[in-house]
Amino acid sequence: MIDIQAIRKDFPLLQQKIYNRPVVYFDNAATTQKPQIVINTINEYYQKYNSNIHRGVHFLSEKTTEAYENARQIIKNYINASFQHEVIFTSGTTESINLVAFSFGEKYIKQDDEVIISQLEHHSNIVPWQMMCERKGAKIKVIPATYNGDLDIAALERLFSDKTKIVCVNHVSNSLGIINPIEKIIQISHSHNVPVLIDGAQGIQHQPVDVNKLDCDFYAFSGHKIYGPTGIGVLYGKEKWLNEMPPYKSGGNMIKTVTFEKTIYNDLPFKYEAGTSNFIGAIGLGAAIKYIENIGKQNIFDYEEMLLHYVSEKISKVPGIRIYGTSDNKICVISFLIENIHHFDTGIMLDKMDIAVRTGNHCNQPTMKFYGIEGTVRASLSFYNTIEEIDYFVESLLQVKKIFA
Ligand code: PMP
Repeated sequence: MIDIQAIRKDFPLLQQKIYNRPVVYFDNAATTQKPQIVINTINEYYQKYNSNIHRGVHFLSEKTTEAYENARQIIKNYINASFQHEVIFTSGTTESINLVAFSFGEKYIKQDDEVIISQLEHHSNIVPWQMMCERKGAKIKVIPATYNGDLDIAALERLFSDKTKIVCVNHVSNSLGIINPIEKIIQISHSHNVPVLIDGAQGIQHQPVDVNKLDCDFYAFSGHKIYGPTGIGVLYGKEKWLNEMPPYKSGGNMIKTVTFEKTIYNDLPFKYEAGTSNFIGAIGLGAAIKYIENIGKQNIFDYEEMLLHYVSEKISKVPGIRIYGTSDNKICVISFLIENIHHFDTGIMLDKMDIAVRTGNHCNQPTMKFYGIEGTVRASLSFYNTIEEIDYFVESLLQVKKIFA
């Protein structure tokens, strides 16, 4: 069980009134709020220890280097990677996927090869693959979805050919909140000897992730969506791939030796961390993961599931509402439209009532096209949200309906 009142006190932004009352923050899929411990950790490192990592022999540099590598260790344990050097710090999910699309593509993808993605991907798990395919003369194949937002796994089987080089799918769809059967997708792909990248941007903060048990080849996520700072993210990759692939960015830190004739790249993980990384961001992310561990992952997931049941039941009573993504396998995200009201209008009215939701296509234009719509209103909840906030949200939707009637 979690003590919701105590938890809410950990998040200073949630105490803040935007217009008349404390904000109801239902835009967690876009970014999450930060607990005080994360803010304090970042402040502390800037105030007391700031100094570039892996370069100095002095106290300050050793202190930040140690904290940075400790953050890597925390993440390695959190996702149960086999080695610390399988955890690469990036700027976020987008960069993690770009890294794999570039480096994996350079090494393994050639003319006429195929990459499988799904109908329900975020643009950042589409465009990097498209760019790589254009470069290499390869092509993208798409796993279709069913109307309730599940992927058609039977169809996936039929997409494989001897040209398939990688499968890239999200753990949880950001516009619908549907949890994909990634275990099954990985198992099917591996039976064809094809590796799998999981876009975990919406997964890891709501679902258990054990990369060893999953046996995924890559898992990407963003710090800011898991209560950590912006500008920091992670790419988990199996050692074998990370060793074989060429680096994606080059410069300082990623090298062992440089002459004008030849450069020898550094060992993992540094081979993929060119330049000064966002080391204080990484330290802040480590603090965020520790914070979650203290509350207990399972406690968080159970509480969020309770919120999902409550909000699903309540919102279904709003006349004229249409929910997108009705599969049972979902996290606490409700994507919807109210009959005859544009999603922007709903969002603007809710904002005036101190409720923050996301409106638009959620960087998922192919998903919106699939449903024949331009966008939705998306309410995405987290473990610091409450039943009372859901009640107020649903009452506010009824108000919006009345105003537009
Ligand atoms: N994939 C998914 C499923 C996402 O929801 C997002 C963020 N909305 C991204 C990728 C990109 O994450 P970021 O902008 O943090 O790199």
